[in-house]
Amino acid sequence: MVTPGFGEVSVRSRPLLRPPTVWTMDERRILVIEDDEAIASGLARILTSQGYLVHLLSQGAGAVRAADGDVDLVVLDLGLPDVDGLEVCRRLRTAHPGLAILILTARDNELDVVAGLDAGADDYLVKPFRLSELLARIRSHMRRVSVTTAHSEQPLQVGELRVDRSARRAWLGAQELVLRPKEFELLTLFMINAGIALTRERIMERVWDTSWMGSTKTLDTHVLGLRNKLGAEAIATLRGVGYRFELP
Ligand code: CA
Repeated sequence: MVTPGFGEVSVRSRPLLRPPTVWTMDERRILVIEDDEAIASGLARILTSQGYLVHLLSQGAGAVRAADGDVDLVVLDLGLPDVDGLEVCRRLRTAHPGLAILILTARDNELDVVAGLDAGADDYLVKPFRLSELLARIRSHMRRVSVTTAHSEQPLQVGELRVDRSARRAWLGAQELVLRPKEFELLTLFMINAGIALTRERIMERVWDTSWMGSTKTLDTHVLGLRNKLGAEAIATLRGVGYRFELP
C-alpha cells in the first residue's frame, strides 16, 4: 500500500547490517531514522553488536514502507531534512499500530515531548543521551513487544516483581502484595511498559477506560498506593507528561 505523498519517493537507505554471528530465531529488527551520519552509523554499530538487525534511513520519506515487514522498533530522530519527525511518527503509528517508536529529540521542551507522545511515540530520549540509557529503553520496549504479542495471560516478571494475571496475584520477592483492583491493573500496565513514559491520558484510557481528564486525582491516589507497596522510586513522575515505571 502506498501512503499518499510518502511511499513513492526513492528510499535512500542502506542494506541491513548483519553482525558476523549466527542468528537465533529471536532476532529483533530496528529501523533507525536519523539524518546525522555520525549518529546513525554509531547507533547501527552499537545496536548490531547487541544482536539486533539494523536498517538505516536518512530521511522521513519512505519511513512507512521501510518499517513494513518484521521491524519491531523504530528509533526516530525528530529533526529530519524533509518531513517533520512528528508527522513521520503519526504516519508510522497509523500504518503500524504494534510498532514500538522511540523518538530522539534535541528539543527538551515539555510541549515537544508531549507532542511526540501524542503523535504516537512510545518513548523519547533527549539528545545528547547516554548509550546505556538508549539500550535499556530498547530492551524494555522489546520485552513489551514480546509480552503483547504473546498470550495476554502469561505471567509478568520485572526484577523482583512478579504478576500472575490469570490468578490476579502479585509478589515482590517472596511476599505477596495486597492490591486494590485498579492498583493491580495499573501495576500490570506499568510492568508491560517498564522503563517507558506513559502519559496520564493513556493510563486513564487503559486502566479506567475513560479519556475524561476532568480530574485524575484517582490516578495519583493509585500511584501513591503502589509506591507505598513497591517503594517510592519504583514510579517516576514525569512533570507535565505522566509516569514511568522504573526497573526495581
Ligand atoms: Ca537530525
